Amino acid sequence: MNVFELTRALVDIESITNNEERVAAFLCGYLAPLVSRYGGSLERIEVEPRRFNIFAQWGERPTVTLSTHMDTVPPFIASREDGDHIWGRGACDTKGIIASMIFAVELLLAAGQRGIGLLFVVGEERNSAGAYRMAREPRGARFLINGEPTGNRLALGSKGALRYEVAAAGKMAHSAYPELGDSAIHKLIDALADIRRIPMPTDSLLGPGTLNIGTLSGGRAPNVIADEARADIMIRLVGDSAPIKAALARAVNGRAELREIIEIPALRLNAIEGIPTTVVAFTTDIPAYGGQWGEPFLIGPGSIHVAHTLEERVAKTELLEAVEIYQRMARHLCNRASK
Ligand SMILES: [Zn+2]
Repeated sequence: MNVFELTRALVDIESITNNEERVAAFLCGYLAPLVSRYGGSLERIEVEPRRFNIFAQWGERPTVTLSTHMDTVPPFIASREDGDHIWGRGACDTKGIIASMIFAVELLLAAGQRGIGLLFVVGEERNSAGAYRMAREPRGARFLINGEPTGNRLALGSKGALRYEVAAAGKMAHSAYPELGDSAIHKLIDALADIRRIPMPTDSLLGPGTLNIGTLSGGRAPNVIADEARADIMIRLVGDSAPIKAALARAVNGRAELREIIEIPALRLNAIEGIPTTVVAFTTDIPAYGGQWGEPFLIGPGSIHVAHTLEERVAKTELLEAVEIYQRMARHLCNRASK
């Protein structure tokens, strides 16, 4: 198989989150000859029943580990191909990345490079279950090259996310006698108005933090004082979340309850000489690794703008370029580690 054929074979194995078993088995079978030819080792690491991460390494330790996720978002779309692109679910997020990483590693091994690992995990599209599992089991890696579609540019940073539910409680009454009740909706909209006035910081690399009130619901009828109301808010973080959390508590000031649902920190990543850079807004598995697999880098072929769409595709030239870039980065980082 060449890198295009491998990409298509991977796309054609449906692996929507929670259903990664078949693609993991395929990758095990595909990597086995590479492992035996170059004296590596291959592991299936159980994350949940029928859900396995795949880890292969060559050399004493995986100084540089190339890693991405095996799961995709729904719906499944079979592969097709034209002169320029490979299309289908996961073409860029991340089946094409898996294929480029494997081809890069094969070429590195053939050239005598060791200290290389390949790690493919489950669950990135939902809750990073596979990456969290590996964070508990580091293998002495110094550098992690995480693959997501960045147009083959090294991401210097990504915005984080902070999601809250804001819930207000009140007391029902006939709306003709509001003094007998306590409107949860009135309290909530006052609190939300103050939340919208919270100044968001701007970071010189990541740009401004942003706040969105994404949902709003509550109440029972026009003539009933509302006894409950709630809203979901999402903040895109560009730095420390502590001042924003404090400002949220001050803005709400007891009028509602603030429930933190999820926090993913903003990321700052380093550059490597000679590789073009970018900044991305999406989140990745990198925070879940918590630094346990070494210093992270984020780069991969394809565009995030077509990932998760029905038009998902990856340019063939980008796949070939990624095979070169991954080799160059792995060599560079292995050299850096040996100094
Ligand atoms: Zn992805």
